[in-house]
Amino acid sequence: MDNYGHILVAVDYSHHCRIVAEKARQLASLHQAQLSLLHVLDNIPMPQMQYGTIIPLDELSDNALLEAEKTKLIELGKDLGISKDNCQLVWGMPKREITLFADRKDVDLIVVGSHGRHGLALLLGSTANAVLHHAHCDVLSVRLKD
Ligand code: AMP
Repeated sequence: MDNYGHILVAVDYSHHCRIVAEKARQLASLHQAQLSLLHVLDNIPMPQMQYGTIIPLDELSDNALLEAEKTKLIELGKDLGISKDNCQLVWGMPKREITLFADRKDVDLIVVGSHGRHGLALLLGSTANAVLHHAHCDVLSVRLKD
C-alpha cells in the first residue's frame, strides 16, 4: 500500500472530535504525512464573504465569535502537535467545504467522525455520508458511540 502524503481531519468540536483527530494524528505519523486540521464555520453569519472563504487565523476581526473559533482551532491543533499553518478555518457548508478543500490541497485521505445514524437521519444524510459520496480520495469514517 502506498503511503498517504496529506491527511485531512475535519473537526466539528463535538465532545467526540478529539477521538477523530487523534486517529488522524496516529495515521499521519505512521505514514509520515502532512496533517491538516479543518473546521468549517456554519454557525456565524458573515454576509460579506463567499462560501469557501478561508479565514486567516492571524488577522484580528471585531467578531468575538469568530475570534473564539480561531482560538479553539489553534488550541486543538497545539494539543495534536499541528502547527497553525496546517489549521484551517473555512466558512460554508461542512459537507461541501471538506471535499472542496481536499481537492484543492491534494489531500489523499479525509478523516471524519460518524455516528452511524439510522432511519430518517440516514435518509437525510450526515456529513460523513456526504463526504464519503463526494470525495475524490480515500475517506476514513471513525465510528463514534452516542
Ligand atoms: P455529523 O454528520 O454532523 O454528525 O458530523 C460527522 C463528522 O463530520 C464530524 O465528526 C466531523 O468529522 C465532520 N464535521 C461535521 N461538521 C463539521 C464542521 N462544521 N467542520 C468540520 N468538520 C465537520
